[in-house]
Amino acid sequence: MRACVLKAPAPVESGPLEWIETPMPEPQAGEVLIRVRACGVCRTDLHVVEGELPVRRPHVIPGHQVVGIVESGPLPAGTRVGVPWLHRTCGVCEYCRTARENLCDRPEFTGWTVNGGYAEYLVAPADFVYPIPDQFDDIAAAPLLCAGIIGFRCLRLAELSNGARLGLYGFGAAGHVAIQIARHWGVDVYVSTREVKHRKLALELGAQWAGAADEEPPVRLDAAIMFAPAGELVPPSLHALKKGGRLILGGIHMSAIPSFSYELIYQERMMRSVANNTRDDGREFLRIAAQIPVHTQTETFPLREGNRALQTLKRDGVRGAAVLVAV
Ligand SMILES: [Zn+2]
Ligand SMILES: [Zn+2]
Repeated sequence: MRACVLKAPAPVESGPLEWIETPMPEPQAGEVLIRVRACGVCRTDLHVVEGELPVRRPHVIPGHQVVGIVESGPLPAGTRVGVPWLHRTCGVCEYCRTARENLCDRPEFTGWTVNGGYAEYLVAPADFVYPIPDQFDDIAAAPLLCAGIIGFRCLRLAELSNGARLGLYGFGAAGHVAIQIARHWGVDVYVSTREVKHRKLALELGAQWAGAADEEPPVRLDAAIMFAPAGELVPPSLHALKKGGRLILGGIHMSAIPSFSYELIYQERMMRSVANNTRDDGREFLRIAAQIPVHTQTETFPLREGNRALQTLKRDGVRGAAVLVAV
């Protein structure tokens, strides 16, 4: 098969992914072999490709928002499934045993510790893939599998009720899905993001207000979610919270957070990171996304053009989510 293989991490402008012939993956017990139809492009892929996340598997194939068709294994051939970031958990550690498998001590991650979906085929444990609701075609479904699920976990942790005011910092793939869920729950959304076209999309999707990346929203917020991997935005976003407000950090990697005065977090404001997701997050999110239904905005690239897709993502050039498509 052919795949985009990461020879060595490097700035994505230098084209570190190589589209080459590589051995077909062989499913082990409990795994399905999947023919890839589409694979969403996530900022985490950029962190893997550029080396902000350490190399865990040399010559890895990135990609963890995979929509494909089961070819063989424990699920019926022809089943359409999605493969997310959480590839597998140990099932026995204290976190797995207490419904916190997202924090598993011995997890595997798709497209980082094991090969992912920037490829014609991949393998995944049957217990960790999701059936894709019929409402979504392959391309529309791909960004739901990380951007959507992680955004949903952030929304859950933000503990929003009807009429709450939510801030979103950064408005890419995750933000444009999260706003649709939040609006469905009756939450008012305020979006801060550096790209003008992202502000425009936010307003189209029902934001009350959209401003620049570090601009203060016109109201105090019950909660905020930071999707931008920019630590310097933490102090201004804390400043925008009401007393008791919650700041949820949605990224796997973030630049250093500058020091700030205690008063920014006093009055029981809190700040919490999000790590991965549980399978329950994924199932519940896909159920709600199909019910609303969520509409994803996508920009497609051929599967072989992983470098170009990531370069476009890096300069915030994607409206909604980038998706690689198998031809
Ligand atoms: Zn575990
Ligand atoms: Zn991701």
